[in-house]
Amino acid sequence: MPASPRRKSVVVNVGAIKVGGAHPVVVQSMTNTDTADTTATVNQVMELARAGSELVRVTVNTDDAAKAVPKIVDTLRTFGVDVPIIGDFHYNGHLLLKKYPDCARALSKYRINPGNVNIGKKHDDNYRTMVECAAEYGKPVRIGVNWGSLDSQLLTRMMDENSKSAEPLDAMEVTMRAVVESAIRSAEAAERYGLAHDKIILSAKVSNVQNVVAVYEMLAARCDYPLHVGLTEAGLGSKGIVATSAALSILLQQGIGDTIRASLTPLPNGDRTEEVIVCQQILQALGLRSFTPQVAACPGCGRTTSTFFQDLADQIQTYLREQMPVWREHYSGAEEMKVAVMGCVVNGPGESKHADIGISLPGTFEDPVAPVYIDGKLSKTLRGDKIVEEFREILDSYVARRYNAAELAEPVVG
Ligand code: SF4
Repeated sequence: MPASPRRKSVVVNVGAIKVGGAHPVVVQSMTNTDTADTTATVNQVMELARAGSELVRVTVNTDDAAKAVPKIVDTLRTFGVDVPIIGDFHYNGHLLLKKYPDCARALSKYRINPGNVNIGKKHDDNYRTMVECAAEYGKPVRIGVNWGSLDSQLLTRMMDENSKSAEPLDAMEVTMRAVVESAIRSAEAAERYGLAHDKIILSAKVSNVQNVVAVYEMLAARCDYPLHVGLTEAGLGSKGIVATSAALSILLQQGIGDTIRASLTPLPNGDRTEEVIVCQQILQALGLRSFTPQVAACPGCGRTTSTFFQDLADQIQTYLREQMPVWREHYSGAEEMKVAVMGCVVNGPGESKHADIGISLPGTFEDPVAPVYIDGKLSKTLRGDKIVEEFREILDSYVARRYNAAELAEPVVG
C-alpha cells in the first residue's frame, strides 16, 4: 500500500533545493564540529554532502563561528560542493546576524528557535530582528520549536487557562498544544515582520514517538508551511535509529513531512553520516525515494556453514553504496536495483528470483556452489574463492547493461 499523498504545502527554496509541495522529501543533517574550526567543519560538511545530505546545518553560536561561516561556504564552493548551508541560531542570533552581514548573506537559511531568542523579555524584539534580517537578505527561515526550550511564558499561560477550564487536560497534552501554538504564532509574527509566507518552514520537535506524531498531526492540520520533521534527542545506537524510524515512518506514511533529519547521537569517533543514511533508508523503505540499490539478505541460521555469507552481504552492500556516486552519473535508475544475498537453498533461490539480481550461497551439507539469478532466471553458478569478486563483476555488467542506454550523451559528429 503506498503512502498517502503528501499534504499540500507551499514550496520554499533553500538555495537550489526546493522544500515542500510535491518535491521529494529532502534529507538534511547537522555538523557536530566547532563551526569556528573552518577546516573541520568543511570536511564534515563534505562528508555529509557526499553521503547524500541535501541540506547541512551548522551551529552559529559565537563571533568566531559567525566569522567562519563565509569562509566555510567559500571553501565548499571552491571544492565544487554546492550543498546549502543553514545557520542554527539560539540566544544571540539577533546580535550575530546584525554584526556579521557576510555570515547572514552566506547562509542559505536560518533556523530560529523562538523559545530562547527572547528569554526574560516581555517583547519579541530579538526574534523580530532575526526575521527582519532574513527578509532583508531574502533568506528562508525554519522556525524550530523544541519542547526542551519552549517559550515558558506561553506555556505558563496555557497551563493557567487549562487549570481554569471545566475539563482540564493533562499537563503533557497542554505542553504538546503549546509546542504547536508556539510554532504557529511565531510564523504569524514572522509574516507580520515582513517575511513572505513562502519563506517559512516549521518544526516542532519533542523526544517521544507518540508525542511527535501527535504534534505534527496538529501542525499539519493548522498550516500549509512545509514541515521539517524529526524526533529530537533520539539517542544512541539502535534506540535512536528505531525511535526515529518509527516516528518518521508514521508521519511520512500520512503524507506529513517535507524535509527530515535523524537526530542521532554518534558513538565516540562514530560516523556522523549515519544520520544521513538512516534518513535515506527510511525514505527508501517507505518507497518514497530511492538512493542506493537495496540488498535483501537473510539473517542466517544453523543451516549456514559460516559467517561467509554475512561478510558477502556486507561487502556487497558497501560496494553498492560506494559505486552509487559513479553509477548515478551514468546509469539512471541504478539506485532502484534490488539485490538478494541469501544463506542457503531454503529461501535463497526464491528470494533471488524476486530480486533483479541475487545469489544463493551454499548452506551446511549443500554443494559448495552459489547460483546467481538475474531477472528471475538462473544465470550462472559461482564456485571457489572468488565468489565475491565475480559477483561484483556480474553486478557491474548488469548495471551497465540495464541502466545505461538513454543516459549516455550522443557523440558529437563533425
Ligand atoms: S535462507 Fe537458509 S540460511 Fe538464510 S535464514 Fe533461511 S534457512 Fe537460514
